[in-house]
Amino acid sequence: MSKIQSKLNAPLLEVNKLRAWYGAAQALFDVSFNVRPGEVVALMGRNGAGKSTTMKTIMAMMERRAGNVKFMGQDISAWPTHSIAASGLGFVPEDRRIFTALTVNENLMVGQQAARLWPDGTAAPFWQVSQLFELFPNLKEMQHRLGSQMSGGEQQMLTVARSLMGNPYLLLLDEPSEGVAPLIVEQMAHMILELKARGVSILLSEQNLHFADLVCDRAYVLEKGVIQYEGTMAELNANESIRRSYLSV
Ligand code: ATP
Repeated sequence: MSKIQSKLNAPLLEVNKLRAWYGAAQALFDVSFNVRPGEVVALMGRNGAGKSTTMKTIMAMMERRAGNVKFMGQDISAWPTHSIAASGLGFVPEDRRIFTALTVNENLMVGQQAARLWPDGTAAPFWQVSQLFELFPNLKEMQHRLGSQMSGGEQQMLTVARSLMGNPYLLLLDEPSEGVAPLIVEQMAHMILELKARGVSILLSEQNLHFADLVCDRAYVLEKGVIQYEGTMAELNANESIRRSYLSV
């Protein structure tokens, strides 16, 4: 058992029979999975499989939803989004919501929350701006730049950095590699491994098996709002029929 695992005796995130609807159309069907302390878990599937909807449902951003979400042992299913975020569950949505009229530094300050403790009283991962600049050297060089003057990949990094200012136990990362340049994808992979090393757990939505394989421990594969497969990255890699059926590889 890792040092981080020993700090909690339950999974960090436990999702049970999650359902969600857009109007009358059901998008998730009894989705259940978990993320254990210290893990990087991939939520995989093609476009429209339900990855973003799963994250939005966990964050209580889907108006019509059902099922149960436990975070750090607490049932958060009925909590409003801001309380969930304040409890240490960070969310980086696909559509990078930075404040374009604010500078990089100002954007970071918006995300700032107090330091956190694990249930056993020891310190949870904590981020200072200087440490974030070590993780994202590009951002250091553009501290005073307005959000509107950054590229898509730079905005993506700023969104992740701003979420880290909240010192999350767990980060939900919605398709961090999508639509960004190869160099930034490489930096993203490095960043995720660094977060893991510092004790931040991650649920990563991804269609790209190569990227998931670089950084993840386990994967759940979604198709049409149903979990079709779960296994370690090594098991998924070895399973050609699942890869062919549900992933774009
Ligand atoms: P992507 O990579 O395209 O974001 P995804 O796996 O995240 O894929 P979701 O965005 O969760 O998939 O979509 C799941 C289903 O819900 C799809 O059938 C999609 O068409 C539908 N859907 C998503 N957003 C909306 C919306 N705002 N209104 C209606 N239907 C939606």
